[in-house]
Amino acid sequence: MKDSFDRTINYVRIAVTDRCNLRCFYCMPANGIPYEPKAHLLSYEEITRLLRILGGLGFRKVRFTGGEPFLRKDFMQLLENTAKLEAFKSIHITSNGTLLQRHIPRLQELGITKINLSIDSLDKERFHKITRRDDFEKVMETFHMLVDHSFKIKLNAVIMKGINTQDIIPLAELAKDYPVDVRFIEEMPFNGGYKENLEMYSARDIFSDLKTNYADLEQLPSAHGDTATLYQVPEYQGNIGVIAAFSRTFCNTCNRLRISSKGEIKSCLYDDGVFNIRDFMRSGVSDQELSDKFSEIIRLKPKDGFEAERARKSPKSAMKSMSSIGG
Ligand code: SAM
Repeated sequence: MKDSFDRTINYVRIAVTDRCNLRCFYCMPANGIPYEPKAHLLSYEEITRLLRILGGLGFRKVRFTGGEPFLRKDFMQLLENTAKLEAFKSIHITSNGTLLQRHIPRLQELGITKINLSIDSLDKERFHKITRRDDFEKVMETFHMLVDHSFKIKLNAVIMKGINTQDIIPLAELAKDYPVDVRFIEEMPFNGGYKENLEMYSARDIFSDLKTNYADLEQLPSAHGDTATLYQVPEYQGNIGVIAAFSRTFCNTCNRLRISSKGEIKSCLYDDGVFNIRDFMRSGVSDQELSDKFSEIIRLKPKDGFEAERARKSPKSAMKSMSSIGG
């Protein structure tokens, strides 16, 4: 299905929980965010129904995120249900890697092998400082297990000035040693509050570090909907991408909708939620009415993240933690 800017919208990202067992300081305050009670979350039946309807509208890719998706009880059950949906052959997960190890065999059986793993530093102490938890070894163990089981891994690292810029090259080097793609993400200023005057380490700064270190860095063509500008170091097994999440230079090929754990639809990461599909669904509407509502939301998708931010009804300070949005 196309929006009014002729962009094909066929990718949905669903946050299955707003809870997380890490406390990455750029994402959440140290004492967490006020979590939603379970009854407020979309149930697995509701999520599966929404996916069925989105499949009918031409959606083909789903990403489950959170919070930490593996924290939600019986998350594997939702994956089993989704794997049965004809439309969604491309099922992805974004995870911090602390809780997924024991699920690796079943994920493989289900053909769910595309995992984005968040690792912001390869230094144990810096990892601890960023996440406020002591899980570095566990996460690296998960990384190696996923590599050994031939999962298709993208490693996400948020790059922050004065915090982990020294990790850029060591993280990029993982693409040499392993068949993994590495993504560097600009920090966005919302972390359960709003950071005014954020001193950004921009996509341009990250690129400049890469270019200084890799003289033969080549830019790759981007696939439709790819938020990353992609690069290749010759002979490296994986590619390297830079995501201008704050600079927002990729909106013209946006292909996505987001649904928060409590059913708030975001047609752009920077809007403040355009419609609550959970409440609409719980009012007893038909599949056709849900489908029409999604079509309407897609038609009204803003041109870019700047327009979405200007149209917000709530102040920037009310921007949610990424843990409720899903990143
Ligand atoms: N718990 C999972 C994880 O750690 O990947 C999924 C949820 S997490 C909110 C999804 C992604 O959002 C992570 O890669 C995280 O680094 C990113 N993220 C969170 N807050 C961010 C921010 N303020 N700026 C940029 N990326 C952010």
